[in-house]
Amino acid sequence: MSERPRLTVLSGPSGVGKSTVVAHMRKEHPEVWLSVSATTRKPRPGEQHGVHYFFVTDEEMDKLIANGELLEWAEFAGNRYGTPRAAVLERLEKGEPVLLEIDLQGARQVRGSMSEARLVFLAPPSWEELVRRLTGRGTEPPEVIERRLEAARTELAAEPEFDETLVNTSVEDVARELLALMDVV
Ligand code: ADP
Ligand code: 5GP
Repeated sequence: MSERPRLTVLSGPSGVGKSTVVAHMRKEHPEVWLSVSATTRKPRPGEQHGVHYFFVTDEEMDKLIANGELLEWAEFAGNRYGTPRAAVLERLEKGEPVLLEIDLQGARQVRGSMSEARLVFLAPPSWEELVRRLTGRGTEPPEVIERRLEAARTELAAEPEFDETLVNTSVEDVARELLALMDVV
């Protein structure tokens, strides 16, 4: 008997490698559907509207929230991010595996509203390595990195709230482990 696929939530501190792991996984398994979030953050070089995020204005985000169009949303390091509800429910209804890559506050909201969701925490091999990755990515100025590292301390402390922890030492290994958790392979 095949179980209804569960919603999988991948969370973890900024810079730990969530996007890298998800991109690697989807290259080999494009059938895993990743929700595209709305955000008020400005695009980084190379980021495309509708692919990496729906880049919206503050007013547009206000509307999405007021109209109940988001499954969850949170403010993270000065910007707002949220998961469009309809697309996620549609995919789950069709029986397709669904992945959300969201922050801790969002993961907590999903846990509250969708009890069948599986929460996966992506942890860095060490604090020093997290700092190295976040700084090395070179996409944020020092004050934003500081803010994200401050958030990271809170996120790391919340690891026991998650169903599973994967340590991102090797992108290939973590992608494989995540696929196995999602019953894709
Ligand atoms: P997040 O999406 O969690 O904010 P990213 O995927 O942008 O993080 O990764 C942050 C930086 O760390 C990137 O420069 C990426 O290339 C690097 N990185 C990701 N995973 C690994 C890994 N396993 N080993 C070394 N570097 C990694
Ligand atoms: P970034 O700006 O680096 O793309 O993302 C910053 C943080 O916001 C990351 O922890 C990422 O997982 C989280 N995030 C991205 N989309 C969403 C979303 O829709 N909801 C929530 N709660 N967090 C999100």
